[in-house]
Amino acid sequence: MDRSQVKEHLTFAGELGVAGVSRDPAWRRRPASPRREPEAAGAPGDARPAPLSFSRTSAEALTAVRADIGDCTRCKLHALGRTQIVFGVGNPDADLMFVGEAPGGDEDIQGIPFVGRAGQLLTDIIEKGLQIPRKDVYIANVIKCRPPGNRNPEPDEIEQCEPFLFRQIEIIQPKVIVTLGKFAAQTLLRTDAPISRIRGRTFEYRGAKLVPTFHPAYLLRNPASKREVWEDMKLVRRLLREG
Ligand code: URA
Repeated sequence: MDRSQVKEHLTFAGELGVAGVSRDPAWRRRPASPRREPEAAGAPGDARPAPLSFSRTSAEALTAVRADIGDCTRCKLHALGRTQIVFGVGNPDADLMFVGEAPGGDEDIQGIPFVGRAGQLLTDIIEKGLQIPRKDVYIANVIKCRPPGNRNPEPDEIEQCEPFLFRQIEIIQPKVIVTLGKFAAQTLLRTDAPISRIRGRTFEYRGAKLVPTFHPAYLLRNPASKREVWEDMKLVRRLLREG
């Protein structure tokens, strides 16, 4: 990292509300937080991915999943004003994957996850915080169609759509998965635990490390929580280095 990147990094940490950040080398030598032991997560059970042909690339396998979704009518969202299905975006061989909740209005129009205001904040977290180009990670949602008025996804919608997310993860095989908000964490970890209790901890998910954090839309409403997300991203960086 050159000097200007370090400066940008510290500025970003400051913007996120992180106190105690300093360019003093002594600060960087401070001991890391104690490592938490990963905890076992429940397996998603009935959503085994279709077997993959060994000769297929990840990109081809993802294209096949998208083709399986087709012009989906499996749940009621297809009739509730969706413009298009928002499948996922990024590197099919990414080490790091982000999982959000559902497309919003901007995503519904553009067909790409996280392109609205919350998406801009997520992009900053990835590019300014983690120092990774957004194109190098993979980003998807639990459900692929916009719920009307951006309401929460309903259980039947999640049930119909989650197998496609499970297949995306199986294909990409990221080292680290960051779940954004309650629905993504609860879907992958099969838990009812509130996000405030599980965020910032490391879970095992099918060979990947899974770190729940707050949803960027929540951060737009509660900027003080950016500080905790910054802590979570430091954990993600450590896990990527260790992996
Ligand atoms: N919120 C999400 O959970 N996903 C998006 O793609 C956009 C906003």
